[in-house]
Amino acid sequence: MRVGDGGRHTLHTTATEFLQNNQPDWTDSMHQVREAISKICRKYPDEYWLDKDDKHEFPLDLHRDLAKDGWLGICMPQEYGGSELGISEAAVMMQTISESGSGMSGASSVHMNIFGLEPVVKFGTAEQKERILVPLIQGKEKSCFGVTEPNAGLDTLRLQSSAKKQGDKYVLNGSKIWTSTAQIAEKILILVRTTPLDQVSKPTQGLSLFYTDLDRSVVQVTEIPKLGRAAVDSNVIFFENWEVPGAELIGEEGNGFKMIMYGMNAERILIGAEALGLGFAALRRAAIYAQERTVFNRPIGKNQGIQHPLAESWMKLEAARLMLYLAARLYDQGHSTGEYANTAKYLAAEAAFEACERAVLTHGGMGYAKEYHVERYLREAMLPRLAPVSREMILNYIGERVLGLAKSY
Ligand SMILES: Cc1cc2nc3c(=O)[nH]c(=O)nc-3n(C[C@H](O)[C@H](O)[C@H](O)COP(=O)(O)OP(=O)(O)OC[C@H]3O[C@@H](n4cnc5c(N)ncnc54)[C@H](O)[C@@H]3O)c2cc1C
Repeated sequence: MRVGDGGRHTLHTTATEFLQNNQPDWTDSMHQVREAISKICRKYPDEYWLDKDDKHEFPLDLHRDLAKDGWLGICMPQEYGGSELGISEAAVMMQTISESGSGMSGASSVHMNIFGLEPVVKFGTAEQKERILVPLIQGKEKSCFGVTEPNAGLDTLRLQSSAKKQGDKYVLNGSKIWTSTAQIAEKILILVRTTPLDQVSKPTQGLSLFYTDLDRSVVQVTEIPKLGRAAVDSNVIFFENWEVPGAELIGEEGNGFKMIMYGMNAERILIGAEALGLGFAALRRAAIYAQERTVFNRPIGKNQGIQHPLAESWMKLEAARLMLYLAARLYDQGHSTGEYANTAKYLAAEAAFEACERAVLTHGGMGYAKEYHVERYLREAMLPRLAPVSREMILNYIGERVLGLAKSY
């Protein structure tokens, strides 16, 4: 407890004590993941995350604990130390980390491990996989992901960073924005253009992917002050004449876009799962507070104006959850189009945001105080609505691909 409660009965509960594990649609393996991850997260209560958020400190100890028990390789091949489980299990892992009270901060600290190296798993050579995946799964190295650029935004195909081949190396020039964890990562997976846009027959061609050292002697990394998820940094990075060995090119030169697209539906499912965790954590706190807080001689949760919005939020979160685990199951079964992954990410992010807003309102003035944690949740709940793909681009996708409507841009 951070401050005296002056006679008020306040609950500073450890969120994980209330994690439920009776989802009727989950497999045994998913329940086992839930159980094991919540056991680890129990060590990191809400107060820990508030402190990390205040101090802008990366949660290295959670990262270490998850690595120690092998969780950083949940979807990676067994021959490199992974568990080779599906996106369904990975989604349970990410939902549970977030739901433990860590929100997007805890989830983002390991997010890159779960889906981000998919291009290496799929398209890397055996030597690259051994060199890249093993230390990452063991938690000995951390990696960030550099795709977004200041001048291209969501229009990835117009990214301007370039790589020119010189002998057996490439020379990279350009910038990236929002690169998360670049303050602490030793490595980066980066997408740059190797053939100028006006020299390719299709804009999807000519982009290449490198996995290399984030060499701070040539790469300038500057943190962006931001609304929430302060424990995990996001950055602008600049690089000039950055020499990268040819052996660090992943897959075929010019094929990078196709390779990053490969992991995209998985990432949407995972971000959706993280959003769900945040929404359920907020709802739990709201329900506890509504039961405990007495005003006008009655617990505030007895008022339908408080109770009904929370009940509705549970239904919306649960509906999004069912969609999300359906999308995960279909992905694991080889379904490769994005309608369910996109829909799940959209619905989960919206339901989570609403649940977090309602949790703040349920707390009244105390919802605005850091000690009740819901203000941190609300700040973080904006993130899954914006990234890695915005709500508008998901609506564009459904409009075009599912409804067959004309492309609007
Ligand atoms: C905290 C955080 C962490 C991130 N981490 C990473 C990371 O690690 N690596 C990385 O590469 N990126 C990262 N990102 C970047 C993120 O993926 C982008 O912010 C996101 O893809 C949106 O791009 P943008 O910000 O450039 O928006 P813009 O492309 O500038 O778009 C701005 C707005 O215009 C709308 N818009 C644009 N075009 C259309 C259209 N045709 N139709 C309808 N609406 C449109 C968008 O939906 C959006 O609302 C992160 C972002 C944040 C906020």
